[in-house]
Amino acid sequence: MALQRKITYRMYPNASELEALDNWRGLHCRVTNTLLEEHRRRYEAGEKAYNFSTMCKDLTVWQGYADALRGLNAQSLQVTAKRVALSFDAFFRRLKSGDEPGYPRFKPFQRFAGWGYKTYGDGWKLHQSDGKHGKLRLSGIGEIRIRGKGRFTGTPKTAEVIHKAGKWYLSVTYDVDETVVARQRGSEAAAFDWGLNTLLTIAKADGTLEEIDNPRWLKSKLDAIKSLQRTVSAEEIKAKAQLGLAADEPLKKGQRLPVTAKLKRLYAQVRSLHGKVARQRHDFYHKLTGEMVKRFAFLGTEELAVKNMSRAPKAKPDPDQPGEFLPNGAAAKAGLNRSILDAAPSMLLGMLRTKAAEAASVFALANTREVKPTQRCHRCGAIVKKELKDRVHRCTCGCECGRDENAAKTLLRWLLEGDFWSGTGQTGSAFMAGLPSETPPIAA
Ligand SMILES: [Zn+2]
Repeated sequence: MALQRKITYRMYPNASELEALDNWRGLHCRVTNTLLEEHRRRYEAGEKAYNFSTMCKDLTVWQGYADALRGLNAQSLQVTAKRVALSFDAFFRRLKSGDEPGYPRFKPFQRFAGWGYKTYGDGWKLHQSDGKHGKLRLSGIGEIRIRGKGRFTGTPKTAEVIHKAGKWYLSVTYDVDETVVARQRGSEAAAFDWGLNTLLTIAKADGTLEEIDNPRWLKSKLDAIKSLQRTVSAEEIKAKAQLGLAADEPLKKGQRLPVTAKLKRLYAQVRSLHGKVARQRHDFYHKLTGEMVKRFAFLGTEELAVKNMSRAPKAKPDPDQPGEFLPNGAAAKAGLNRSILDAAPSMLLGMLRTKAAEAASVFALANTREVKPTQRCHRCGAIVKKELKDRVHRCTCGCECGRDENAAKTLLRWLLEGDFWSGTGQTGSAFMAGLPSETPPIAA
């Protein structure tokens, strides 16, 4: 059976290739914005929605008379149109479900990520020598040096050219045979609880506990970002003063912060630091999850509380759009660092899911509302209410241990025994039946 896997290569364009890449990025950005504009016009005029095939027809027409567009790969233009279509699909879907989605926004060039290719050999080709080095042939641009290596080889299918924090990448999706990506399967069983303080608290079936902290470099990088952000805030306050605004006064509608040369430089520093942290953490997670799958054939944790993770994106500054930091310095800074940590669990869980599948081992996610790993005593199954600040689990059955340890052990019992609390009067179904979840703990 064929699976799909991605490998991301770093691109090392020379000066003329760099110019061509930026030129293409600008063209795809303009095409995106033109399509968005036409979408909006139709939407506001109450006309029929601008669908993908109409967009593609228009693109062909535009390519006919716009010299600049003629040089672009036709399929890559369709990929760009597809992205616009998808953002509108998502918009209408959320509108339908009663949300208040933001209307798909115009993309400023600085933030515009790049473009994609649909078919291998049409506009792009890889020339990979052995090892980590290779070349990417992009029609109309040149032969660009690339670097990167996957764990497997496969058939290249689609590609994305990505510009991120001043660097260029090529992300290639390969069809690979499942035997090629197969991993050695572990033999132990364990469950883990994840958190911001201790990254993972792993309870193993042999009764022992293991704690994995966020690496020290991550903490120091976060501190560095924090201090850089303080400098940024101070500069922004100065810029606001130029507009006659006090430090805590929000910008008026339509008002833009004057971006000084110094601010520009600082924003670039923030971006580059963010990029560095993201890359290093990505590597760290790959190694960590690889090790875990090598050891454990049965692995469990609780599902992600998606609601909490994606809360209030509006209130958060966008690290890719430093010009739009909120004037509220303190909240913005907290949000910035939070956003770095927030992205972590979903990435970690995603990697574990993939790798566990490659090893044909079990990776199970507990329904948090049913299992209640934090609240439930791992020894007797009773619910022991805890606030976020309560770091210790203390049950009337005499069980006493750290909060994370209890959660991990409860998850482990769930993994191995299922609803081990049933028959204790602590069934999760009370919640499902609409009863309050704060069932008092049973006496031991
Ligand atoms: Zn207990």
